[in-house]
Amino acid sequence: MREKGQLKQNRTAKRFVITKKPLHYHGTNRIVCPYCGNDEDFLELAENVAITTRYVQNEDGSFTPVADDTQVFGEIKFSCGKCGADLTKYHKHFLEMLF
Ligand SMILES: [Zn+2]
Repeated sequence: MREKGQLKQNRTAKRFVITKKPLHYHGTNRIVCPYCGNDEDFLELAENVAITTRYVQNEDGSFTPVADDTQVFGEIKFSCGKCGADLTKYHKHFLEMLF
């Protein structure tokens, strides 16, 4: 009798964990590709980028980069890393969630 009671308790505990997980994911504001369902792999594509890097030459003739400045003159596109779909409309959201 005691063992049966313990089994029941474990089962309800497991069910509680299983039903809680999907609710947790729905609550977050994750970007999901509407075409393939990918929510992990994304690409940011920048056109016409000028990258300026300032270097200091050391005494032994080697160089050390001290600062770099990236200027984007063209459009920045945001796309799915798996199927390549254009997700630029999510780019603003991506920047807000970028840490
Ligand atoms: Zn996709």
